[in-house]
Amino acid sequence: MEKVKRKASSKKRSRKKKNTALTVAVRTLKVFGTLALSLFLIIIITGSIFVTVLTIYVLNFAETDDVITIDKVTATSNISRFLYENPDYDPEDPDSSQFLLYYGLTNNARRSVWVDLSEIPTYVQDAYMAAEDERFMEHDGVDFKRTFASIVYTLLGRTQGGSTITMQTIKNLTHEDSRSGIEGVERKIKEIFRAINVEKKYTKDDILQCYLNIIGLGDGWQDIVGVQAAANYYFGKDITQIDIAEAASLAAITKYPVDLNPRTNLENNRDRQQWILGKMLELGAITDAEYEYAMNEELVITGDPDFQSREDPDAEEIANQGMTSWYMDEAIDEAVMRISERRGISTEDAKTELYSGGYNVYISIDVDMQEKVEKEMQDNSNFQSYPFNEDELQSGFICMDYQGNVKAVVGKRTKKDTWDEFNNATDAERSPGSCIKPIASYAPAVEQDLLTYSTLSNDKPIDLPKGDGTTEKWPVNYSDTGLSENWSYKNLYTWQMLMRSLNTLPAQLIEKMTPEYSYNFLKEKLDISTLYESDAYYAPMTVGALTTGTKLKELVGAYMIFGNGGKKYDVTFVNRITNTQGDVIYEKNDGYKQAISESTAFVMNKMMQKVVTESIGTGRYAKLRNTQLAAKTGTSNEWKDLSFVGVTPDYVSGVWIGYKVQEQIPTTQYQNIGAIWKNIFGDIAETEQHHEFTMPSTVAEMNYCTKSGLIASERCTSTEVGYYKRTNIPETCSGSHFS
Ligand SMILES: [Zn+2]
Repeated sequence: MEKVKRKASSKKRSRKKKNTALTVAVRTLKVFGTLALSLFLIIIITGSIFVTVLTIYVLNFAETDDVITIDKVTATSNISRFLYENPDYDPEDPDSSQFLLYYGLTNNARRSVWVDLSEIPTYVQDAYMAAEDERFMEHDGVDFKRTFASIVYTLLGRTQGGSTITMQTIKNLTHEDSRSGIEGVERKIKEIFRAINVEKKYTKDDILQCYLNIIGLGDGWQDIVGVQAAANYYFGKDITQIDIAEAASLAAITKYPVDLNPRTNLENNRDRQQWILGKMLELGAITDAEYEYAMNEELVITGDPDFQSREDPDAEEIANQGMTSWYMDEAIDEAVMRISERRGISTEDAKTELYSGGYNVYISIDVDMQEKVEKEMQDNSNFQSYPFNEDELQSGFICMDYQGNVKAVVGKRTKKDTWDEFNNATDAERSPGSCIKPIASYAPAVEQDLLTYSTLSNDKPIDLPKGDGTTEKWPVNYSDTGLSENWSYKNLYTWQMLMRSLNTLPAQLIEKMTPEYSYNFLKEKLDISTLYESDAYYAPMTVGALTTGTKLKELVGAYMIFGNGGKKYDVTFVNRITNTQGDVIYEKNDGYKQAISESTAFVMNKMMQKVVTESIGTGRYAKLRNTQLAAKTGTSNEWKDLSFVGVTPDYVSGVWIGYKVQEQIPTTQYQNIGAIWKNIFGDIAETEQHHEFTMPSTVAEMNYCTKSGLIASERCTSTEVGYYKRTNIPETCSGSHFS
């Protein structure tokens, strides 16, 4: 009774408030209604945007016919092979290979040995399917139920397996990182399309075979790839000898190798192994008796990284190949740089990938030339005038063809004894001295028609402004006794100025063109990368007194324009790189910069031949018997650096000598720099395929009057042969000579 009463009274109270309550309720409903409607619209709009974006993504990936190749050799290779073109390759001979192995890079911590599926016990295959993808034999590459869940997890910022064996295979082959968020979804969608394509092209057995050979099973200490290497490493057995318990233990590793491997985390491994055995029983892959036996088996873990029942056919050769050569060091650096650029990854990651194997890197080395110049560089008699106990003088040598493909490089005079050692041809920045003249002053001046082969110029200094408003007579010429004011004030032909390496004409040309012009020419057209703002001045551009110097590789690279019609190609060691998939990820293009015209290049070449052929030419000691040579010597201030760059019909090459800590080279104790170049490279140059440069039709060979330097007329009594750009042929001499 009491209860009812109380209820009745409360009813009374509420009736009193009925009107106000109703208003509140209606208001609240209205607010909720608007909210619900807004929410509904937001969901619809967001949903539409999401679906549109997703559709664009999907269409984007669906369009690319993205088929992954499941290749036996490259998929498991521990080796990145550096290959060179076989000079004796015979396309008619089936035993002849177009490319030969120069060097193999391996990651010693990575173990991987290919086995065919027929050699992998069925219960190993079953264990993996039970653990990773129980519907593998039924689906078309994608298990949509699990994939959807996986995409949701990925969007929530978590990564979750959910990939089929097909998708995991693709992920392992492409090395594409699993990321969360939109990027992760993007990768996932790509993976779905690739998986469907792979399933169309390959059988389930092909895919499973590839998967079992490339799956990562390392314990964090050793990089174990594939079931054969894992059976070797964890159980000291060949995969054919593995039993059911061990098979399930291997399959248990896959999900989180470091946490679930049987060597360092046996208990964790056992938990998942037992779950897998249960799953195998459930799927009918093993009998009750096999299950019971495996559950009670005590695993024996060996953890022997050196146990290997099968070898890569190249493994022994690669194990005995010794240290990298000078060439290999450069090729590795370039390959890492190209992979990093093409894949958009750091150089550290690119290096790790390259050392993990599977790449083919095609290099432009001439193996015979490399061997020969290494030998010559180690022969003291090629450098010293007579035997003495002084071998601290350093040297570097490099040779390339006229597309900038490096054929040989040597970094010092003694045997290379460390990996990635400092290289005097590619790392050292040293003064090029007068070797800068052809590229900084003569070539751009001939290009601008400031002078011709036989223009007469006066051997006199320029008035160089000093900071205080006054000027000084500059520069002095070199002489046998050092630097002196030995200006002759004589008129000399352009080729004579160059042949004698006088400093005055280059200074006059730099004055006309401005130092900035030459600086930009070297930097932009000839790819000299070691120039500083302080180098855009007279002394650096006239006599090569640069802030740090040039790398011999770049100096020689710049000279290629004098042998190939003015074209500047990139200097490279690597022509092409293919990845584990056999896809070309880098190929050197045949692009070049036309630094100077073909005619300027040939006129320069002819003037530089005089450096060698004239009896007082600075490069006379390099003169060859059978092969034309255009060249320039370079001597830096106080004889601290001596350089020689030689341009022969097939190659451009150069040598540098100097001390590590810069000091004067006792030239009386050493051979002339031209002779040193010839000692190292002369034999090769004499046997080049071509022995002469070809004169282009844009150049005219004409007689000039030795009195005026102009084109000789019938009245001129003394003439010489000169070479002229057809667009800039000098006037004809009047024949009225004063002398
Ligand atoms: Zn004349």
